[in-house]
Amino acid sequence: MSPRLVVVSNRLPLGDNPSGGLVVALEDALRNSGGLWVGFSGETSPSPEDRLTFHDGARFQRASFDLTEEDYETYYVGCSNSVLWPLCHGRADLMRILPEYVEGYRRVNARLADLLLPHLQPGDRIWVQDYHLFPLAAELRARGVTAPIGHFLHIPFPGAQDCAALPNPAELFGWLSHYDLLGFQAHRDLNAFVQSAQELSRIEELGGDRFRLAGRGLRAAVFPIGIDASAFIQEARRAPNEDRMRSLTGAEMMIGVDRLDYSKGIPQRFRAFQILLENHPDLHEKIAFLQVAPPTREEVQAYRDILEETEHLAGRINGQFATINWTPIRFLHRSLPRATLAGLYRQAHIGLVTPLADGMNLVAKEYVAAQNVVDPGVLILSRFAGAAETMDQALLINPHDPWELAEAMETAMRMSANERRRRHAALLREVVEHDVTWWSASYLDALGRARDSD
Ligand code: UDP
Repeated sequence: MSPRLVVVSNRLPLGDNPSGGLVVALEDALRNSGGLWVGFSGETSPSPEDRLTFHDGARFQRASFDLTEEDYETYYVGCSNSVLWPLCHGRADLMRILPEYVEGYRRVNARLADLLLPHLQPGDRIWVQDYHLFPLAAELRARGVTAPIGHFLHIPFPGAQDCAALPNPAELFGWLSHYDLLGFQAHRDLNAFVQSAQELSRIEELGGDRFRLAGRGLRAAVFPIGIDASAFIQEARRAPNEDRMRSLTGAEMMIGVDRLDYSKGIPQRFRAFQILLENHPDLHEKIAFLQVAPPTREEVQAYRDILEETEHLAGRINGQFATINWTPIRFLHRSLPRATLAGLYRQAHIGLVTPLADGMNLVAKEYVAAQNVVDPGVLILSRFAGAAETMDQALLINPHDPWELAEAMETAMRMSANERRRRHAALLREVVEHDVTWWSASYLDALGRARDSD
């Protein structure tokens, strides 16, 4: 039996989305190694228990912990979502730094190390997920844990200028130095990590993936996350309407699916659509844009602002262009089940994925997986999504430039079936080869070798 895998993430997957890609990817590794997954229950309580709560029902062990309301506000809403998220997405201007946020972040990570400690066994490998838990390895090391510990960052790593906006940038690199392996989504992130560490900490490049950070040896490498491609292909094939949907007027559908986050570039793409309609009256009633944008993090002001801006723009564009038979933009401010999305992707002639910054962007991969290979749609993809590094057969665009994006929309509308098939075949190959199981296997293989002295 392979060494036991212990996964630690902010949220423990508890039933609500059992087939999420990450769960599928880790399930095999967790099951085969008698593994354990630990995370926040999603519940707050005035005096949470001083031990983990174990849950039945999965094919591996799952254990959760509650937070106090104060911890939730400071560690999660505060430090994670109002400091680290904007920082890592190039929006240091939106950071809200309060001393109690950083204290809460440290406190929750220290408490998690205390909760985890009694459950660790000799031979364990520990895999920590994402930006909520940067300090966890340092906290575990301080309690004597010598097991290999890896970290994977699902979002972009900030450049040196942004890192410098943190209250204590060197502390971040100190935390990271206690891991054996740092995993990033894209080369862009690995490069940003190395450059930021050069400016704000001490880093030596020892060749290959080996580094010495703040005096400690570690590895750092790129592992682009994928989707559960074969399951998604099946899901899309099962969707009721095989053919690309045309509205009553015969319009082709263009689809965007994003949490309503300021990093996703939704207002920018609405402006681009407006330019397209202004410049191409022949496309009126020929293209209908469906934007699915579930609410997210509504406790944070910046998210309430983006809702107002998006609704305002959609209203204005519809007011300007709609006809009796045609509504140019349909804006759904709610989430849809993945099976429904799979069907919608398949029906859409254009998949619009235009974040201003994004770790990977799984919607881009899902859109490709869902297409009918004989008559596939066109993916328009931001150069600032991690996915752009491996999906270069998409129409790659700069999401800040609405004219360039409007032009890409026009190109996609008029693209020949041959070119659509050629581009899609290359994209699909990439999505299938580098799926989420490949991702977790290659990460865990590297973590297993992280202490080798090659
Ligand atoms: N998603 C969903 N229902 C929705 C909107 C999105 O299930 O209404 C899923 C989507 O299929 C994708 C994930 O949420 O798997 C979003 O992942 P992505 O990497 O694109 O962005 P993130 O939200 O993680 O920033």
